[in-house]
Amino acid sequence: MHNYEEEIKRCLNCLNKPCKQACPLGNDIPRIVVLMKEDKLREAYEVLSETTVLPAICSKICPHDKQCKKNCTLKFKGQALNVGDIEFLLAEVANKNDWKLPMLDNSLKNRKIAVIGSGPSGLTAAAFLARYGADVSIFEKREKLGGVLMYGIPEFRLEKDFLQNTLERLIRDLNIKVFLNQKYGEDINYEFLNENYDAIFFGMGANKSKMMGIPGEELNGVYGGNELLEYDSHPDYTNKVVYVSGGGNVAVDTARVIKRRGAKRVTIVYRRSETEMPADIKEIEEAKKDGVEFVFNTNVVKILGDTKVEKIECVKTKYNEEKQLINVEKSNFELAADCFVMSIGSIVDNTSFTNGEVEINKFGKVLIDENMKTSSEKIFAAGNLVSDNSSAAMAARSGRDAAEKIKSFLVEKY
Ligand SMILES: Cc1cc2nc3c(=O)[nH]c(=O)nc-3n(C[C@H](O)[C@H](O)[C@H](O)COP(=O)(O)OP(=O)(O)OC[C@H]3O[C@@H](n4cnc5c(N)ncnc54)[C@H](O)[C@@H]3O)c2cc1C
Repeated sequence: MHNYEEEIKRCLNCLNKPCKQACPLGNDIPRIVVLMKEDKLREAYEVLSETTVLPAICSKICPHDKQCKKNCTLKFKGQALNVGDIEFLLAEVANKNDWKLPMLDNSLKNRKIAVIGSGPSGLTAAAFLARYGADVSIFEKREKLGGVLMYGIPEFRLEKDFLQNTLERLIRDLNIKVFLNQKYGEDINYEFLNENYDAIFFGMGANKSKMMGIPGEELNGVYGGNELLEYDSHPDYTNKVVYVSGGGNVAVDTARVIKRRGAKRVTIVYRRSETEMPADIKEIEEAKKDGVEFVFNTNVVKILGDTKVEKIECVKTKYNEEKQLINVEKSNFELAADCFVMSIGSIVDNTSFTNGEVEINKFGKVLIDENMKTSSEKIFAAGNLVSDNSSAAMAARSGRDAAEKIKSFLVEKY
């Protein structure tokens, strides 16, 4: 008797599959559960593999409450099906039994493809292209694979040994070549890739903190959340009072890490209400348990200090009749602070694209057409580099879609 059997028994196998529809990857949970009920775990794993190559990771970090579990019919009867646990179980069984990801077809045999960046979009694109028989090389600027999974999401949410073991297996099983410490724009360039590869995939993400554009941003003690997490470039927080601006995963992770590193008080200042926070509900609850405090319906409008942060000036917010969020007049107040962290959004670091090889749109993202192709003949792009995907699964989905577009492009061309 497996311990997951009780859980899968609860699945109603809904005809309209609301969980599948809400999953960015379109994982066919009901079909998978039917196979699991018949003890056909390998077949169930193969169905899961049709849509995802990172099930073990998504099982741990997907905002299930906002995706599959949000729409699960069982939720309205009490408790949604624990989709993440089911996904994790299958990934673990596959790992133990050394089941490889099934190959799809050989349509890209003899085609060489370069993937730049190894976040969820790059890894997924690389894996699907390899499953079509392509000779895939990943070029990654950092010393390890994973993108934000490795250099953003903290260890206490996603163990790095587990992540690296999972990714190593993926790379090994699919014979993907990996070149670490290779930065596009410095160590490798468009000319090299154009000469050596039939197609190029860009998945460099967007992991630069968006500035707020408020007075005082130049003061000592002001930081960007993405950089603190990515480069582990934290100052000493002992006895420090820290305010973090934002409401997404980056803000919550940054605040939790800072609290765990010994800050006296850490408070997230969010311009809307708690229920409107884009961060995962579970993470908000965990942050509260860590002792992180929250101030809602508040905007930070100024950072005050001589050379370093001394205070932040805030203003209350509300919705006007047109349902736009506005600052409430004369509601300004000040809070004493030692550090201020901006985590209101992430933008693309465009410094790698210096030769005009790709066009940038008005949002600072790489412009792609309906075929996920950039303005350059051979370059395709996906993930946070091209849109504000807020989750790893969304980035992975766009990587998978790009792989399909690259396949069509190459099959037609050769
Ligand atoms: C702190 C934080 C917490 C998050 N928490 C969650 C969560 O709990 N659940 C969830 O689903 N999503 C979460 N997200 C969002 C999710 O991680 C991202 O949506 C996803 O990682 C984007 O994937 P990507 O492949 O587009 O880019 P990234 O993951 O950013 O990967 C881009 C890769 O490209 C590499 N690169 C960049 N420039 C170059 C270059 N010039 N040459 C070579 N390589 C380059 C980078 O080093 C990196 O490895 C979080 C994000 C952050 C920042």
